[in-house]
Amino acid sequence: MKTEKSSRRLSIVGLVLLIMVAVGSAVAQNKQQDPAPNIAFTVSIPKPHTHMLDVELRIKQDVEPATKEQVLVMPVWTPGSYLIREFERQVQDFAASDASGRPLQWAKINKDSWRVTTNGARDWRASYRVYANELSVRTNEVNSDHAFWNNAALLMYPEGLLNAPSTLHILAPQPWKVATGLPPVPGQKNTFRAENFDILYDSPVEASNFKTLSFEVKGVPHRIVIDGEGNYDPEKMRADVKKIVETEVELMGGEIPYHDYTFILHLRANTGGGLEHLNSTALGYSRFGFGPEPKDRSEGVNSAGPGAPPLRTYRGFLSLVAHEFFHLWNVKRIRPDALGPFDYTKENYTKLLWVAEGITDYYARVVLRRAGLISEQDFLKENAKAFQGLQNTPGRLVMSVEESSFDTWIKYYRQDENSINSQVDYYDKGAILGLLLDLEIRKQSHGAKSLDDVMRYLYAEFYKKNRNYTPQDFQKVCELMAGSSLEPFFAKYVRGREELDYDAGLTAAGLRLDRTMAANGNKALEKAYLGADLAQEGERLLVKRVYAGAPAYEQGLNTGDQIVALNNMRANKEFFDTRVAEKRPGDLVTLTIFRSDDLSTLLIKLGGKADSVYRIVPLDNAAEEQKRIYQSWLGILPGK
Ligand SMILES: [Zn+2]
Repeated sequence: MKTEKSSRRLSIVGLVLLIMVAVGSAVAQNKQQDPAPNIAFTVSIPKPHTHMLDVELRIKQDVEPATKEQVLVMPVWTPGSYLIREFERQVQDFAASDASGRPLQWAKINKDSWRVTTNGARDWRASYRVYANELSVRTNEVNSDHAFWNNAALLMYPEGLLNAPSTLHILAPQPWKVATGLPPVPGQKNTFRAENFDILYDSPVEASNFKTLSFEVKGVPHRIVIDGEGNYDPEKMRADVKKIVETEVELMGGEIPYHDYTFILHLRANTGGGLEHLNSTALGYSRFGFGPEPKDRSEGVNSAGPGAPPLRTYRGFLSLVAHEFFHLWNVKRIRPDALGPFDYTKENYTKLLWVAEGITDYYARVVLRRAGLISEQDFLKENAKAFQGLQNTPGRLVMSVEESSFDTWIKYYRQDENSINSQVDYYDKGAILGLLLDLEIRKQSHGAKSLDDVMRYLYAEFYKKNRNYTPQDFQKVCELMAGSSLEPFFAKYVRGREELDYDAGLTAAGLRLDRTMAANGNKALEKAYLGADLAQEGERLLVKRVYAGAPAYEQGLNTGDQIVALNNMRANKEFFDTRVAEKRPGDLVTLTIFRSDDLSTLLIKLGGKADSVYRIVPLDNAAEEQKRIYQSWLGILPGK
């Protein structure tokens, strides 16, 4: 069935209300039944070049007794992006009046709340303006070219009424079109309805002269709404995004849980990232980032989180699409304990972002492979690279993925130079855990079950039964599919911080991790190692990162130091790298540095480290079961 979960939850009363709101009816509702007032937002953009969005919120209360006062609250965050962003800081020109235009008294009672003294008025309104000049998938931007906003960053909710339906009417400058995932109110131009505030806040809006690429999957309409020019091939994009949708729908059991789906895509010189929503997603991408992969390395497949390098190949774009689209199941419907219904006034804590984000990232890779958009070799190479990235992160031994998830509000979105040494990325390690868990379940069940079954089970048994899942639920469902306990896996790798056993998982698919070092363990072939990332910024050679435990770290080089000279010779990055490469482990180097405004000298004894490249390679004597698991894992049909 193609239905939204929420529509099943909608009561008859709610439906009546909805129709009343939709037609703007003043008919009195049954006084005994539902005190929810009619809530209608109008957003207008009279002067786009001033970056202002004008909001009017009209509340009609037809029941007795009408409230004496009402608090209006601006969300401080938007789901999917776990940082308190204080959207209320962009609010100005707040006012309130009754139906005849008489001003109502109001007072600001904390940073995000306005209390309006309605004095029992049955029909009143509040108005305010929001400054919108920050383009990202989680903020608002209005200018002479377009408007994009997140309703959570624009529309206040009446306190106590998060479950109430509302309408949103948009007065966009001519000749702009409007795109959003909210269903339209029939017969009313640019007017949409939301069954509750979670749905309203989960539906970003684009208004501009966007281009549209449309396609259908199983008769359900999908559109890619594109604002901005770029070097993409529209026909290829349409076909490939369709393949991703089809592959993910199939993976999740074949049912499409929405009426329509909208990809909002902003193309700019420097933008990136995505934010998932119920039946839409907002994507930002580098406008000339649709080229092929570089020949010698496979870049471009990244998690969509902050700190990720810019996504700039066509494959990177497809990876972003696959990630955000998979969220419509994993996090939007298969919901971790604390993630929905939401508290918009403060942090909502969960230990499960490694599942919500990491496993979504894992599936983005799996789906590109199963859709035939990347090769088996690319898939294995990407995963080997991810393993190596994790092993190069000292923070993996300091923080678990559950801790990383829980503290995202203060850590992941607020990274600094110490983050690499103190944190683990729940996207990166979560994706690796997804892979290892998938292979572990396939191994334990002799290929009968997989992580796909876990996701489908969570969808059927939690989403469809209107339940959120806990960390314990997730482990239990994995164990159900594996047919055995996975307690050691969860204790060591999910709740704990132990080194991962990559081979234990890979062997299920007849693979192993080859991390043979170029030096082959021969100390004589090790290279001199400092353990700091440097960057040339103009004339300055700066230390950007120092790895815990490395010679630079132990001997006092700091992030932010400016290296002026190496062995008393002026150094830029090229000079520095070349000279250090000529050294041997154990050699001493003199670094002349500026730390803040003071010049000093450090004597550092270089360490030794061999170059290594991780590769996932086939086992020599893989059994039939291992081969079968490999093929079903990567979507390779027998005989193909
Ligand atoms: Zn995500």
